[in-house]
Amino acid sequence: MFITLEEKNRNQNITENFTVGEILDVSKPNQGRTSVDMDYNVFLVAQYIRDNVGPLIPSSAFRNLYYNRTIPSKDTSQHVKGKALDLHNPVVANWLHAQIKNNSNHYKQLRNLGLGGVGLYDWGVHIDTRTSSRLGFWDFRKKKAETVTFTSILLLIFISVGYRLFKRNAKK
Ligand SMILES: [Zn+2]
Repeated sequence: MFITLEEKNRNQNITENFTVGEILDVSKPNQGRTSVDMDYNVFLVAQYIRDNVGPLIPSSAFRNLYYNRTIPSKDTSQHVKGKALDLHNPVVANWLHAQIKNNSNHYKQLRNLGLGGVGLYDWGVHIDTRTSSRLGFWDFRKKKAETVTFTSILLLIFISVGYRLFKRNAKK
């Protein structure tokens, strides 16, 4: 179900913790408009996550096509359809990733509320309500600390082996 978020209602709540004003502030309405049309379910999904991980700061909601191209982002972006939110929180990506991996009850509830796409970032998550039998998913977080450590150890081994070979050859 789509709802129209209007400037004159900016102090109203969409769900318990999301207001019309904060979503309008991070939206790019179509030319000449001060209102945006968005899928109500994306807010139900956001509220469910909020109830489990704490405050989420929206940084992007509706985007008109012209603005979306300047980011740049694909024309098929769910933001252009009014079906996506970008939400900042330091732990939300880990939490949501764990729910997906474990196919948890939280994940099933989120899918029932309409969750159709998830993007993981260092700053938080992108969520959307695309209609899809399989979850749209991407993980754009930087490499984890363990991966960096492992690479460093490999590099040290190469250097030390290389040094021994060099010494052995130098003696000849
Ligand atoms: Zn997004």
